[in-house]
Amino acid sequence: MNPANDPPLNAYSQAKLLNEGIPSAPSAISSCLDNVTSQLNKNEKVSALWKDWPKIAGKELSLHCTPLSFLRGVLIIGASHPQWVQALIFNKNQLLAALKAKGHEVKSLKIQNHYKPQSKTKDTQKAIWKKHPSRIDIHGISKCTFCNSPAPSGEISLWGKCGFCRRKDLSTEFKK
Ligand SMILES: [Zn+2]
Repeated sequence: MNPANDPPLNAYSQAKLLNEGIPSAPSAISSCLDNVTSQLNKNEKVSALWKDWPKIAGKELSLHCTPLSFLRGVLIIGASHPQWVQALIFNKNQLLAALKAKGHEVKSLKIQNHYKPQSKTKDTQKAIWKKHPSRIDIHGISKCTFCNSPAPSGEISLWGKCGFCRRKDLSTEFKK
């Protein structure tokens, strides 16, 4: 790797220095600013890790697995499906080595299922439907002032027009 081509990122060059075995300068700096910048450093480390993650894990794996937290050297990775948990476990040592090679101070990996909360979404959808303006049985029916067709009152009172007219508005807004 040619150092002249490296981007002048602090976290990156610090990691690079550590990689090259010159720990004295960065550690001296970090110890004297420790209290002030510890939170900042933590965030930088995590964001650097997030940035490197697709390169470390590869395209396929990084699409389905995300670093969830990075605390005291323990990196927790969430996988979207048991199949990807298996893939992570299978590649655990390789990933750990790749993370270390990139200068991330990861001591161990923890892998867990990280499902998208589907049951919660269902509840929310139910709640939305309960109050949905398109429900004639709750809100009654009236006439849209734009297209003159009968429309749920809930839609008229919410948007000032029927759902069809609103969708037309929205689609022209998107085209702009
Ligand atoms: Zn209308």
